[in-house]
Amino acid sequence: MLEFDDAQRQLAQGAAAPTRSTRVPLHQAPGLVLATDIAATLDLPPADNSAMDGYALRYEDYAAAGGAHRALPVQQIVYAGQAPAAQAPGQLTRLFTGSLMPAGADTVVMQEDTRVVGDGVEILAEPKPGQHVRLRGEDVSAGQPLLAAGTRLEAAHVALLASQGIAEVTVHPAVRVGILTTGDELVTPGEPRSSHQIYNSNGVMLAALVNGMGARATHVLHARDDEASLQAALRTLTDECDLVLSVGGVSVGDKDLVKPALESLGGTLALWKVRMKPGKPVAMAHVGGKPIVCLPGNPVSAYAVFTVLVTPLLRRMQGRTEIFPQVSYLTLRTPKPRHDAREEFLRVKRVVNAGSVGELQVFDRQSSGVMSSLPWATGLARIPAGVPVYDGEKVAYYDFRHWQA
Ligand code: AMP
Ligand code: MG
Repeated sequence: MLEFDDAQRQLAQGAAAPTRSTRVPLHQAPGLVLATDIAATLDLPPADNSAMDGYALRYEDYAAAGGAHRALPVQQIVYAGQAPAAQAPGQLTRLFTGSLMPAGADTVVMQEDTRVVGDGVEILAEPKPGQHVRLRGEDVSAGQPLLAAGTRLEAAHVALLASQGIAEVTVHPAVRVGILTTGDELVTPGEPRSSHQIYNSNGVMLAALVNGMGARATHVLHARDDEASLQAALRTLTDECDLVLSVGGVSVGDKDLVKPALESLGGTLALWKVRMKPGKPVAMAHVGGKPIVCLPGNPVSAYAVFTVLVTPLLRRMQGRTEIFPQVSYLTLRTPKPRHDAREEFLRVKRVVNAGSVGELQVFDRQSSGVMSSLPWATGLARIPAGVPVYDGEKVAYYDFRHWQA
């Protein structure tokens, strides 16, 4: 039996970081991983501009005008997107959020602090010098590092890149993942089911998990529990994908034929049983240099094993710098002490009460047959092997938002 941490480390080393890269338009980049560092070429904002609707003022003109007692004339109106003329001393410029500051003005007075009097404008509240002006380069200055290679691009990153006028980025191509479900008892949802059959949950589940990582589930195949069927499917997947996930058929039952099928394709099994619950049977093999991870067939086990064991490998193949997402330590709320000879990953929900960082509620039925716990849970709480954990103790928490991203 392999310890969980060793299995996680070994699996993460099951493939190399990507070497290929490709240029994609910015709108296709979210989910993909940046292959190069990117530095800023533009100051942001590119010019001084107003943060408010109001009037641009040269600060010293306020005192010269006798504070609030004398109206100043308005020289010009400048809308966002227009180029202002230089502002003459003793005058104001009417402007709006995003309008460029005219040369000669240094301060913005917001509209609410002014009063129109005849053809001038009175300033009712004493301004601070430089107030409500966004200065050129105060957000980003040209030349500074913007994003590092290995970053998974999201909406926030493409927004920042777009602000630099960047229309294309160099990314690693999405990792192509082939999924193989196995079992004579399984029927595809939508097909008629006999009383001795169950519906296939793992196919759509794993495809969704893979796609949610920014990889691409290019194939979802199903094989019957016979060696020829398994071999044919595994051959297709190892030919056409970068990573293969098989699910089911890796125990020691009579119909657990994934291992011999892999071996007949020349695969070498790198690890076998992991001391974790749910999900003891997990294996990794390589065929033609490509990693194949064999997951337990039980959907709850496959979900947990994919989350904590397979995602680091997938992140490495994607070229990401953060292979192991953060683990936090939170208080476990459990009516009974938790204790198992194996490392146990409980399906939990993180609940945040006023003033607390959050506590973990345990789903009441932790049998690996209970699939209804999956939509309920927000993550997994790790109970160390052989060490009892009591109500109120802190445990490691693997949040799905981080671990399935
Ligand atoms: P196995 O590892 O093949 O013995 O499968 C373990 C358990 O998970 C059995 O009860 C299977 O029926 C079930 N199972 C395996 N694959 C799937 C699947 N794709 N969808 C739903 N249940 C499955
Ligand atoms: Mg099976």
